[in-house]
Amino acid sequence: MSFDLVLFGGTGDLAWRKLLPGLFQAFRHGSLPSGGRIIGVARDDLDDHGYREFIRQRLAKTGGEKSPQAHEFERFATLLHFVRMDLSKPEDYAQLAQVLQSRGAETVVMYLATAPGLFTTVCEQLAASGLATPSTRIVLEKPLGHDLNSNRAINAVVRRFFDESQVFRIDHYLGKPSVQNLFALRFGNALFEPLWRREHIANIQITIAEDLGVEQRGAFYDGTGALRDMVQNHALQLLCAMAMEPPINASAAAIRDEKLKALRCLQPWTAQTLAQHAVCGQYTAGSIAGQHVPAYREEAGVPAHSQTETFAALRVEIGNWRWAGVPFYIRTGKRMAAREANIVVNFRPSPHPILRTPDGGSNKLVIKLQPQDGLELHLLAEDKASRNAPREHGVQTLAPAHLDLDFDKRFGSERVGAYEGLLLDAIAGRLNLFVRSDEQEEAWRWVQPLLDYWSADGRGPHFYPAGTWGPEAASVMLARDGFAWEHSFGKAKEKLA
Ligand code: NAP
Repeated sequence: MSFDLVLFGGTGDLAWRKLLPGLFQAFRHGSLPSGGRIIGVARDDLDDHGYREFIRQRLAKTGGEKSPQAHEFERFATLLHFVRMDLSKPEDYAQLAQVLQSRGAETVVMYLATAPGLFTTVCEQLAASGLATPSTRIVLEKPLGHDLNSNRAINAVVRRFFDESQVFRIDHYLGKPSVQNLFALRFGNALFEPLWRREHIANIQITIAEDLGVEQRGAFYDGTGALRDMVQNHALQLLCAMAMEPPINASAAAIRDEKLKALRCLQPWTAQTLAQHAVCGQYTAGSIAGQHVPAYREEAGVPAHSQTETFAALRVEIGNWRWAGVPFYIRTGKRMAAREANIVVNFRPSPHPILRTPDGGSNKLVIKLQPQDGLELHLLAEDKASRNAPREHGVQTLAPAHLDLDFDKRFGSERVGAYEGLLLDAIAGRLNLFVRSDEQEEAWRWVQPLLDYWSADGRGPHFYPAGTWGPEAASVMLARDGFAWEHSFGKAKEKLA
């Protein structure tokens, strides 16, 4: 299949850190269809040769073990081309049209890895230049808008020129192998389904914690914050994967229909829940791995009195028969104690404990997404230490134990990366792992009252020292329900000890 993949923003951070390494890996694995071209687009004064050299240097610097060998890059480089253009100038599109139309590839993928402010102009100009044809696919990077209205405005323009089946909205979390495993766990195994409901589950916790700060992206991040950057998209997509009903089949339409239904069941915010079920935080100076790190407000590009949240913790309820009354807790933040993303399903304790159970002893399933990809099933077993001790009234004492499935060990760590898989899907036209406009709009609709509340709330964020698990208020929120946050599984636990 011949394809042209146009990377708008082909010299940008996302392109050389994620997209070109993903494409190179697909090329190395032999999964990139042959007969393709990758066309970088930016305003830089480059030609094909200059662009190849630019990418060669970047891949050599950032790829580590995955960096191409010289001979590999030489072959990959033949796919790379460059078109210099200013996306805001209608006259510049003629050259792109010429490059694409001279070849007439079967599939043309337009990947918009540029500032979202350019999205509508690019769509309009592609259409005006005859480049929005039925064989065109358009890939839109997050953030798709800044709030509900801007998201609707972008989608309305995109819809004018492209059918929904041509639009690939990226949420790279959906491309992670660990998230694929989550779908496999739920819909490939019958074991958990009877337990996957309010009668057996006490609460579900979704954590996406980063130990990094805002790096060189302080100015960008300050206009975004944790709610827009992580909750509206990644965390809600994980919540959907946990809460959705089994789809009728594995088609994109069936999966997206069920995710949309789950989003529609999110209980709307009220004055009371806005005040009690959402905590925003911001990191102060602290220590990560023994190194002093500055406060968020001291980061380059961040205003000295910024109120932007670098941490968000939410208590969410899902109003349907399966989940009514089960709290889903979402927590995400920067400069936290460890880099780990996981989902913990806390099952209800035994209704009639006849054995001696440790405090808080109940079953849990830990779905580890990052840094490792695996599952832990926590059970209670006979306490070995008490085996030889006289039994008090003949009652057995239990201790926690767990089964541990490490997907990297089981299947090898060399698996398809998120961007590699998603780029291949976009080229092949597979929509399953991309977000439909109604899903995305529903997520914005739910988040919007909280965005409004936090921006109007004069109290500002709760502070937490870098290198901790976030502000105290987030723990108080769970303690009110009689629960506590779960964290530090597997390697992350060893790192903390
Ligand atoms: P970036 O480093 O600032 O790169 C922007 C790219 O767009 C550059 O190649 C730039 O090249 C090009 N560009 C900007 N204005 C242009 C114009 N008028 N005409 C033609 N090209 C233009 O930004 P980024 O970090 O790669 O982010 C790109 C998009 O991806 C943003 O929407 C961002 O939110 C999203 N995103 C980024 C990341 C990430 O990790 N970086 C992660 C998720 C999503 P010239 O300036 O030379 O033209």
